[in-house]
Amino acid sequence: MDVFSKNLEVQYIPEENVIKKVLKSGTKSCEKEDLSMNIILLGAPGAGKGTQADVISEHLEIQSISTGNIIREALKSGTELGKQAKSFMDKGALVPDEIVVGIIKERLSKGDLNNGFILDGFPRTIPQAKALDELGVKIDKVIDIEVDDEVIIPRMSGRRVCESCGASYHLINKKPQVDGICDKCHGTLVQRKDDHVDTVKERLKIYHDQTEPLKDYYKQQNKLVEIDGNLSLEETKQLTLNALEA
Ligand SMILES: [Zn+2]
Repeated sequence: MDVFSKNLEVQYIPEENVIKKVLKSGTKSCEKEDLSMNIILLGAPGAGKGTQADVISEHLEIQSISTGNIIREALKSGTELGKQAKSFMDKGALVPDEIVVGIIKERLSKGDLNNGFILDGFPRTIPQAKALDELGVKIDKVIDIEVDDEVIIPRMSGRRVCESCGASYHLINKKPQVDGICDKCHGTLVQRKDDHVDTVKERLKIYHDQTEPLKDYYKQQNKLVEIDGNLSLEETKQLTLNALEA
């Protein structure tokens, strides 16, 4: 068949059929329109990502998933990637990006997140963000909770937990009735290693060095919404809800 007869063939398609075809494909693309809302929560340790993740989760009725939980799930179900992750964790080493991203991809493709999801604590680095993009994971919005280090340090270092029942307290906001003693079970209150001032400072440094560049990364993609997390819980909550409409 030469070029001309090909063209002729096209010309001979009855108009009616062409219109039907267009209409059909139009409907199809409407049906396929993706209304899900996939969100990344960005913010320093202690910025309150978990709390805001709950706010969004309730508002949009979508699940919040944290890297820690996904990795634990993968370990439990013994997937190939889960096993690989475990081999690194057993050595006390960081799980490499490819494995973490692979585990996240597996989790996202399970089919229960069709309405959307909130990623809490991932990505943490530019390579992880790029990997997510390369996998074709659609991200609609990145909500960045901005809290000053001077606010985070006392917020985190004031935390205490009960050794026996795990109840949590705070030296400023949620004092136990008796210093150092759990109200519920009279267990001893301790400071977790993660909440020691030096550990908090170290984690903040890592955040500023490795994670904060993601703000520019997502700003360039027009997805970044920054909110002020220095305010009261109620005010921050409202800002988060506003950010969803932004
Ligand atoms: Zn207790």
